[in-house]
Amino acid sequence: MPSELSKLWFSQASLSAWQSCPLKFKYRYIDGLYWPFAAGGKVSEHIELGRRFHLLAQRYFSGGVGALPPGEPMLATWLNQLQEYLPLSAKEEFLPEYELRSAQNDLRLLAKYDLLAAGQGKVTIYDWKTDERPPRSAFAVSPQTRLYLYLLTLTGYFGVEAENVQMVYWNPRFPREPLTVNYSVQQQEQDGAWIRRLIDQIMSTAAFPATNNEKNCRFCEYRPVCHGQGLEEVQEDLLDIDEVDWEQVQEIVLQGVNLP
Ligand code: SF4
Repeated sequence: MPSELSKLWFSQASLSAWQSCPLKFKYRYIDGLYWPFAAGGKVSEHIELGRRFHLLAQRYFSGGVGALPPGEPMLATWLNQLQEYLPLSAKEEFLPEYELRSAQNDLRLLAKYDLLAAGQGKVTIYDWKTDERPPRSAFAVSPQTRLYLYLLTLTGYFGVEAENVQMVYWNPRFPREPLTVNYSVQQQEQDGAWIRRLIDQIMSTAAFPATNNEKNCRFCEYRPVCHGQGLEEVQEDLLDIDEVDWEQVQEIVLQGVNLP
């Protein structure tokens, strides 16, 4: 096992990278080949808008949104939508950009939640999406959903049972179309076993082969390395792809690769 793996905190991005392409996982988490989506173009604009909305939401739930810079009509509309959808209330504690880690049972797990809302015996995980379509039902079984819900219940920080935890994906472009994922003890057990299986595979593998699913390469930051294409070309391509996982792009751009 490469020594880098013993220091790695497994996040939704690392589990997704492994599932998408073992070589991508190796480049990013073992070789430390950090290749951000940082060049210009429409994709960067999209990421920047998402980043700024996340910051705005963080400020709002910290109680200090302040004045928006002039000339930001879209962000102003999105903020209004958020305030309408989720007004601040004394009945709940709002914890924006909340990071949880657990090293129980030899599993080093990490999640950074956009928002946790805790109160009245319940906890809701909120995740902001800003792409140009409503949250899809496929998110309900994504590595992000499984890890986020599992880790929250595993740590027991909030003292709530799995049945009283849920995850909501919300997009300010479609404020009335949130996706809510409920949780259960049974699903918690399945998620724990799934995460354990995935991490055991990663820790015991001797080879990190490239995926043979070319669709996965279209959304990969290492495409210039593997396929010799310039990043600008890749970025323009991304706009036409339905499968782009903006959450993962944002996690890599905003948080790096979660190495300690
Ligand atoms: S470009 Fe394709 S083969 Fe290369 S690391 Fe990315 S997903 Fe894997």
